[in-house]
Amino acid sequence: MSNREKQLEELFMKRKTEIRHGRLVVPIPNASKCAYDKCAMCAYNKNSSSNIGGISENEQWNLVNRYLLDAEDIIKNKKIMSVDLYCSGSLLSPTEVYPNVLLHLIDFFKKTESLKEINIESLPNFVKPEILAYIQQELSDKMLSISIGWETSNEGIRKNIWKKQISNKMYEKALTVIKSFDNVHAKYFVLVGLPDVSEQESIEECLTSVREALEKGNLSIELQPTSVMEGTIVEKYYYDGRFSPISIRSLVTIAKEVKKHFEQRETYVGKFCVSTYIKPEPMVENTSAKKAFKKFNASMQKIWEEEILQNWPQNINHERYMRKINKVFEEFN
Ligand code: SF4
Repeated sequence: MSNREKQLEELFMKRKTEIRHGRLVVPIPNASKCAYDKCAMCAYNKNSSSNIGGISENEQWNLVNRYLLDAEDIIKNKKIMSVDLYCSGSLLSPTEVYPNVLLHLIDFFKKTESLKEINIESLPNFVKPEILAYIQQELSDKMLSISIGWETSNEGIRKNIWKKQISNKMYEKALTVIKSFDNVHAKYFVLVGLPDVSEQESIEECLTSVREALEKGNLSIELQPTSVMEGTIVEKYYYDGRFSPISIRSLVTIAKEVKKHFEQRETYVGKFCVSTYIKPEPMVENTSAKKAFKKFNASMQKIWEEEILQNWPQNINHERYMRKINKVFEEFN
């Protein structure tokens, strides 16, 4: 095995195709590190191919095919309704995922009959109407869901604390593009937990973001408790005593509030969905709390599959969907 082959093998072995929370997760090693690179809470670039000088189109194609082989096996044995193509960056960035590889992925999954939803992550600046039009046409009535790391509605916090230099205007632009397509849906990641403020202030900041996100209409929200990743600015804050991961109690408070906001909306599910996953599971010693969060996420995923994906697109029953979600929140209390 040449040195290069060894490097690629190591890169491949870092991740695997697997089912998580009922979704098929297919890793896509990016060709170069995420363009932003500097976000205070993110260590994803540590595992990226930039550590081995990036990867060529051919190398990316081959690695992706190996993950797809595993996906094929899983698909044979399980009815897969939802897939996450996960590259720890922007799948729509041509410097991270070669356009031919992206088309190859779309071509592979459009043939999976049971599949109803493809979920990808992207920064807003790579959300372009031409590429969405192409993907939507290829996927026909399958739903394309685009997850965007918004973090907060507060541009100052995003830029100065999280060091993510993306303006609100840029997010608005991407959302407008997404909303112009019928089968394309946006999900915003909202971070929970700030440095240098009280837990109460973190809760309020998160809820302001959630409220402002919901005012934008058809949108899912995924709450992400800020975690301490190795080698990040947040890790430094943590050791300097300037940051602690948010407590379970606060997450419960936020989850309940989020639910209330969805309920108050005439069409709280927008076109078709609510998702209020909380991930990653909070970093806590208390394993029973951890288990509770796992259970919460698993229940939300199950309902999503039963009520949205199974019935997609014509027969979605919003009332029944919300009834089930309410039940999970009751249990979660
Ligand atoms: S959080 Fe997202 S945008 Fe920021 S460095 Fe990580 S992958 Fe890139």
